[in-house]
Amino acid sequence: MVLLGFCIALLCVGTASGTQAAAPSPKQSLERRVPGAVGDSPEVCAALARAFPDADEFVPRVIALSEAQRAELKGALRSRAAPRLWSYREARRAGVLLGRAVVDDVIGKSLPITYMLLLSPENRVRAVEVLTYRESHGGEVRRDRWRAQFAGADASTALKLGSDIRSIAGATMSCRALTDGVRDLLLIADALHHSESATPAWTAGPAATSAGPLAHEGLQVREQLLMGTLLELRVVTQDRARFDAAADAGFARVAELESLWSTWREDSEISRLNAASVGQWCSLSSATLELVARAKELGGASANGFAMESGAAVELWRRAEQLQRAPSNAEIAAALEASQAGAFQWDFEGGRARRLHGSARIDLGAIGKGAALDALAREFEARELRRALFNFGGQLLAMEGPQDGAGWPVQIRDPRPGATQALWELELRNASLATSADDQRGGAIDGLRFSHIIDPRTGRPAQGSWSCSVLARSATEADALSTACFVLGATADSETLTKRNASRLVLEFDGRILRHNGFPGLAVTP
Ligand code: ADP
Ligand code: MG
Repeated sequence: MVLLGFCIALLCVGTASGTQAAAPSPKQSLERRVPGAVGDSPEVCAALARAFPDADEFVPRVIALSEAQRAELKGALRSRAAPRLWSYREARRAGVLLGRAVVDDVIGKSLPITYMLLLSPENRVRAVEVLTYRESHGGEVRRDRWRAQFAGADASTALKLGSDIRSIAGATMSCRALTDGVRDLLLIADALHHSESATPAWTAGPAATSAGPLAHEGLQVREQLLMGTLLELRVVTQDRARFDAAADAGFARVAELESLWSTWREDSEISRLNAASVGQWCSLSSATLELVARAKELGGASANGFAMESGAAVELWRRAEQLQRAPSNAEIAAALEASQAGAFQWDFEGGRARRLHGSARIDLGAIGKGAALDALAREFEARELRRALFNFGGQLLAMEGPQDGAGWPVQIRDPRPGATQALWELELRNASLATSADDQRGGAIDGLRFSHIIDPRTGRPAQGSWSCSVLARSATEADALSTACFVLGATADSETLTKRNASRLVLEFDGRILRHNGFPGLAVTP
C-alpha cells in the first residue's frame, strides 16, 4: 500500500531549487524537488503546500526496511503486513527538515481511499488529507472536523475508533480504515525515524511552552503551520462553533499577513520591495505600512538592537551557513552598509516605499510573528472569546486565564545544550512572552555555532547571552524587544521596557539569570 506513495513520489519530477547555494552534486540536484512540478498530482501538490507553506523543497525518499525492523513491526500493524519499502517526502526549508509526508491507501468498503499523512519531524500528526475518495458512501471522512481529530497524535497514541477518534454514523468502515491506516503509518515512522536528528541548524522551535497538561473543561485546541512554524490555539469555551469561527478567521488573517511579509515567498509585498530596482517606488498595504511604522519606532526605542533593515546582513550569514564558509570582512562591511536605516525611503502618506541601496533588504522576521499574534487576538476578542493562550513557535500570547483569578502556567525553555529541565516558570495573563535564544536556529560553520540574530551594529551574529525573554502587553513589542535584548544583552538600559510596562529575563553565558522590571515567576530548580 505504501508502494502507491512510492509511485507517486517517483512521478514527482521537479526542477532544481536552492540555486544560490553551492553547486550541488549530481546526486543532490536529483534529490531536490519542488511541489507543483511536472507529473505531480495536483492533490498531492496542494496538500503538501497547505501543510508546509514555507518549504522550498520536497525531497522524495525511499527506505528499504531491514528484516529486524519488519520483525519489530510484525503483529503491531492493523491494516497491513510489515512493508518492505517506506516511501515518503521530506519537506525542507533552506535544508532544514520541517516534516514528512506519506501517501497511502486503505480499503474502505471495497475501494481504496487514498490519503496523505503529514508528520512533524518528531513524527506527530500535523494533518491527514484525503486525496481521492472513490466509494459512494462514507465520504464524511473528508470533513475537516473529522480529520482534525488526528492532529498531535503520535506512535504512543492508541488511536482507537470510538474513544480516541469519533466514528461517524454511516461511515464507520471508512473511519476505521483511515484510523487504522494512520495508526500503522505512525508506528512505521516511529520505528524508522526515531534516531534521526530532527533539529539541524535553522529550524524554528519553541523557546517557551505551555506547562503540563491543561485539562480544563471546555478546552478547545487547534493548530496550523503558518509563517514556517506551528501556531497553536488553546481556548476555554463551551461554544465549539464560536471557537472554530474565531480560529478559522484567525488562521486566515495570519496567512494573509504571511503572504504580505514573508521573505521566504517571492511574491510577498516585502519580497517585491526587496527585489525592486533602486529608486523604484513600491506600493504597500496598510497592514505592512503599520507594521513598518511600529518596527521603526521599536528600532529607535531599542537603540537599534532590533532593526528591520538588517536583511542584507541576515541573508549574508544565512548563505554563509548554507555554503559552510564564513563571510570575509569585506562582505560583512558591504552587508552592514546595505543594512542601514537610510537604505530605504518610506512614504507613509503615499502608501509606498523604495530602496536607495542595491543590496538593501527588509526583514520582518523578528516582529512579524508578534504582530500576527496581536491580529489573532483581535479575532478572538471580536467574538468575545477571552480565555485564550496562543503559542506561535515559542512566542506566547495570553488573553484572560483559563479560569477566574488564574493565568496560564507556562515555562521558558533552558537553551543550553543538554539541559533537561525548563529554566523558568510563570503564569501568563493579558501579556505576551517572547524569547530570543541561540539554541534552535543558529547556524554552524566548521562546528562553531552562531546565532540567527544579527547585531545591527557589527553585521555579525549577536553574542549577547544564551537567551532573553521579554514580557510585554503586546506581542509585537515582546517580539521586537526580545530580539533587541538578545543583541544588546543585560547591559541595555531598561528605560524602554519600563516605559512600556514590559520586563525581561536574561540567561547570561555564565549561567546567571538577570531579571529587570519585576519579571514574574520562579526558577525551575532541580
Ligand atoms: P524567532 O524568530 O526565533 O522568534 P526572533 O524574533 O529574534 O527569533 O527573530 C529572528 C529573525 O529576525 C531572524 O531569523 C532574522 O530573519 C531577523 N533578524 C535577525 N537579527 C535581527 C535584528 N537585529 N533585528 C531585526 N531582525 C533581525
Ligand atoms: Mg523577535
